[in-house]
Amino acid sequence: MTVTDLLSYEDALASYDPVMGLEVHVELGTRTKMFCGCSTELGADPNSQTCPTCLGLPGALPVVNAVGVESAIKIGLALNCEIAQWCRFARKNYFYPDMPKNFQTSQYDEPIAYNGYLDVQLEDGEVFRVEIERAHMEEDTGKSLHVGGATGRIHGASHSLLDYNRAGIPLIEIVTKPIEGAGARAPEVAKAYVAELRELIKALGVSEARMEQGQMRCDVNLSLRPLGQKKFGTRSETKNVNSLRSVERAARFEIQRHAAVLSSGGTILQETRHFHEEDGSTTSGRIKEEAEDYRYFPEPDLVPVAPAREWVEELRAGLPELPRVRRKRIQDGWGIADHEMQSVLNAGALDLILATIDEGADAAAARKWWMGELARHANESGTELAEVPITPAQVARVAALVAAGDLNDKLARQVIEGVLAGEGEPDQVVDKRGLKVVSDDGALGAAVDQAIADNAAVADKIRGGNLAAAGALIGAVMKLTRGQADAKRVRELVLEKLGVQG
Ligand code: ADP
Ligand code: MG
Ligand code: ZN
Repeated sequence: MTVTDLLSYEDALASYDPVMGLEVHVELGTRTKMFCGCSTELGADPNSQTCPTCLGLPGALPVVNAVGVESAIKIGLALNCEIAQWCRFARKNYFYPDMPKNFQTSQYDEPIAYNGYLDVQLEDGEVFRVEIERAHMEEDTGKSLHVGGATGRIHGASHSLLDYNRAGIPLIEIVTKPIEGAGARAPEVAKAYVAELRELIKALGVSEARMEQGQMRCDVNLSLRPLGQKKFGTRSETKNVNSLRSVERAARFEIQRHAAVLSSGGTILQETRHFHEEDGSTTSGRIKEEAEDYRYFPEPDLVPVAPAREWVEELRAGLPELPRVRRKRIQDGWGIADHEMQSVLNAGALDLILATIDEGADAAAARKWWMGELARHANESGTELAEVPITPAQVARVAALVAAGDLNDKLARQVIEGVLAGEGEPDQVVDKRGLKVVSDDGALGAAVDQAIADNAAVADKIRGGNLAAAGALIGAVMKLTRGQADAKRVRELVLEKLGVQG
C-alpha cells in the first residue's frame, strides 16, 4: 500500500470546511427479487437462484415486486420525504461481468421518494438534521469471486467465478443532500446518520440492515473548501464502507488527505476510492463517470409506479414507532436525565438493558449492572458491550438474587466475575464459590460477638449512644465473613447485643 500524505486533523479543520454526501444502499428483506420470483435466501449454492429475467436472457420480461415498492415508500415516509405520484425505472447502462443484462435497473430523475430529512443525535446529545435528497429503488448485482491470487482482488487472480444469486435483489439507495456546517464533527455526523438510518430500517422491518453482511453499505462523498468559501470543492467518493466505525474513519481520513493535497497546491481528482479496514486508509479506485456516461433512459419493459394516495396514507398511518420516539418514551419511563440516556446509547447498552428487563429484572438494576460492572469489563477488554460473555438472562438472574437478599452487591460482582470467567450460570457460580449472603443468626451471632470483643472501644461508644460508630463493627463482621454477611441483619444484631435501640 502506498503511503498517503495527511495533514493533522486539527490543521485541516483550521483551514478547510468539509462537505459530505452519504449514499446508503439497503438490501431489502423481501422473499423474492425485485423483478422476478427468484428467492433471495442467503447461502444457497451459486447460481441456484436465477431465472431468465435476473440472468438477462433475451426476451425475458421483468415484473415489479410490490413488497419492494411498499418498503421503498415506507422508508421514504419515515425519512419525511415526499412520495412521487408517478415515477419510472431507468436503465443505467454499463458493462460489468456481475451484471449480465449490461444495465442496472434503477431510478434516475424520477425517484419514488425525495426531499426529506433525518434528525440524528450526536454523542453529546446535540441534534443534527441531515437532509435527504432522494430514496430510489434499484437492484443489486451478482458477485464476482477472484480465484488464485493472494488478495482476493482481480489483480493477480488466475480466473474469476460469478454467482448471480444476488443479481436482482431489491436495493433502496438513500442519498443525502450535501451535508454542510458539521465542521470538525463531520465524521461523527456521518457515523450517527448511518447508525440512525440503520435503526430506522430495522424498526420498519424492511431489512435486517446488517452491515457486516453487506445488507447495508455506505459510500462516503467528501470535499473540502477553504473556510468562508461558498462553492464546493471537488469530492472523492469512498465506496462500500461497511461498518459504522469505518464510515467515521473514512471521512476523517479523507479530510486529512484532501487537506494535505490542497494545502500543498495540488488538486483533488473526482474519483472513487477503496477503504481499508486494517489501517483506516483509502486508495484510489477509478476516475468517476459522469451521469451522461451511463446513457440513462426510462425502462420500457416496466410500467410506471403510481402509488395511490390512499395506499401511501395507509402506509403512513401504519408506520411503527420510530427509533427517536421510542428512545424518548423509554427514557421518560425510566425517569433518567438526558446525559444518562446518552451514556446508555453511547455504550450500546439499550437493547441489552431492555432484554434484561424482559427477563424479569427491574430497570434500575438492569441499568446498574450493564452500565457499571459490565461496561467496565467491556472497556478493559476492548470489546463491545454486546460481546461481553454474559446474557441478559444471566444478568437478570444476578439481579433477582440481589433482590431476594441472597446476594449483596459485593457478592453479585463476584458472581458476574465467575460467569464472565466461564464458570457457568449464576447459580452454579454461587454454589461453586460458596457466595451466599449469611443471614442466619447462629452464624452471624458468633461473628458479631467476635467483632465486639475485638473492638471494645468502638462497642463502648455505641453503648454510649453513638450509633454512627456501628458502621465500624458491621465492617468488622463483613471482614470476618468475607463479605457474605447480610449487613442489615448484622446491624440489628450489633445493636441488640449492645442493648441499644436502633
Ligand atoms: P453519484 O451517483 O455520482 O455518486 P449522487 O448525486 O448520487 O452522485 O451522490 C453524490 C453525493 O455526494 C450526494 O449525497 C451529494 O449530496 C454529495 N455531493 C455532491 N457534490 C458534493 C461535493 N462537492 N462535496 C461533497 N459531497 C457532494
Ligand atoms: Mg455515488
Ligand atoms: Zn430471477
